[in-house]
Amino acid sequence: MAGTSSTNPRSVKLFKKAQRYLVGGVNSPVRAYKSVGGTPLVIARAKGSQIVDVDGNEYIDYVGSWGALILGSAEPTVVEEVRRAVESGTSFGALCEAEIELAETIKNSMPSLEMIRFVNSGTEACMSATRLARAFTKRKKILKFEGAYHGHADLFLSQSGSGMASLGLPKSDGVPRAVVRDTLTAGYNDLMEVRRMFKMHEIAAVIVEPISGNMGVIPPDKGFLHELRDLTERNGSILVFDEVITGFRVSKGGAQELYGIIPDLTCLGKIIGGGFPVGAFGGREDIMKLLAPIGRVYQAGTLSGNPVTMKAGLATLHRLDKGTYSRLERKASHLGSSLGRLSHRVKVNRVGSMLSIHFTDKIVTNYPSASSCDKDLYARYFHHMQSRGVYLPPSHMEAFFVSDAHSMKDIDHTIMSADSALNSFYRN
Ligand SMILES: *Cc1c(COP(=O)(O)O)cnc(C)c1O
Repeated sequence: MAGTSSTNPRSVKLFKKAQRYLVGGVNSPVRAYKSVGGTPLVIARAKGSQIVDVDGNEYIDYVGSWGALILGSAEPTVVEEVRRAVESGTSFGALCEAEIELAETIKNSMPSLEMIRFVNSGTEACMSATRLARAFTKRKKILKFEGAYHGHADLFLSQSGSGMASLGLPKSDGVPRAVVRDTLTAGYNDLMEVRRMFKMHEIAAVIVEPISGNMGVIPPDKGFLHELRDLTERNGSILVFDEVITGFRVSKGGAQELYGIIPDLTCLGKIIGGGFPVGAFGGREDIMKLLAPIGRVYQAGTLSGNPVTMKAGLATLHRLDKGTYSRLERKASHLGSSLGRLSHRVKVNRVGSMLSIHFTDKIVTNYPSASSCDKDLYARYFHHMQSRGVYLPPSHMEAFFVSDAHSMKDIDHTIMSADSALNSFYRN
């Protein structure tokens, strides 16, 4: 069986070594398999929908670099553009044409991004967008939602305190209370709570994943985003859409196009870098012009707008057309509906090519319902799937992604493997 320690001796050996030099053996916590147990695969290479570990085991990849690889790995036109870019110099630290082109390409698909600033991660995008919103409104408070992920900047590492009037408390050691005191948290899809927050506080910005993708996939309830648009507008607050996952994922215009909502600011990442480190934020010109060098909001980056990243992003976005999204929809809907039919004890949430499977018999609409699903059963599912050559995110709270490189054969193999997993759990 692929994916057990007997078939992964090299992964096991390398992970031991990794733990000597890298904290927890990884450079991002979820990769350590803490939530599902066992030894993480060490990856040697990937091509299309396939990812290969250092022992030579092949898997169908549904992590897709956490959603970045909408075309699959090492897509030939992307690779060719990158190869050419590398040969022309890997970094200039000065303006280059590809930055202008990528900004223009993004704006053509997402017109609400009147002006754009590129950064190197989604974390930076969200951190900078909220800084800008605070400067524009001259207010302090940021409202976010429970179960959202906006990167690891201090201000987002908060949890709601007890009692409805309480302010944010740190969720990580090393984050001072003072930094999260102005971060408010409401329940995702809970408009009553949002309205209450607006009554109690002067809010600079509401930042929201328009489709929640960091507690599995949770679509917005009907009217949720429209009401957020309405409330922010009426209260002089900035609406920030964190489309780091959903941008170019659920449609070429992102979730804002899908739901017909124009946010003030948008954060992007993942797909727009074509598999290279990237982030971007953009939006209303009057807000964006507060950024240095025009305005007084400071933000900078040595490798921002890196020519290789920009070219990889451009090559990726140029490949995305109506056909891409209809293929993604066809494959993902087949996968999602088939998985959902396997057992009434699992719920599948899906928007376009982002999906999640939840081990529960109740619908999953927010953080409490997502986090109360059976984590141990997900762990068994994860390992069962891995042993059958299907690589899923190593946490029950993460989404999985279908790419343009997945074949119907990949999808059918995945459904068959899931069927055998669920049969083995629920046989008795
Ligand atoms: C991945 C992600 C981020 C952070 O992006 P990084 O590039 O990992 O810093 C922010 N917001 C959302 C919604 C994300 O999924």
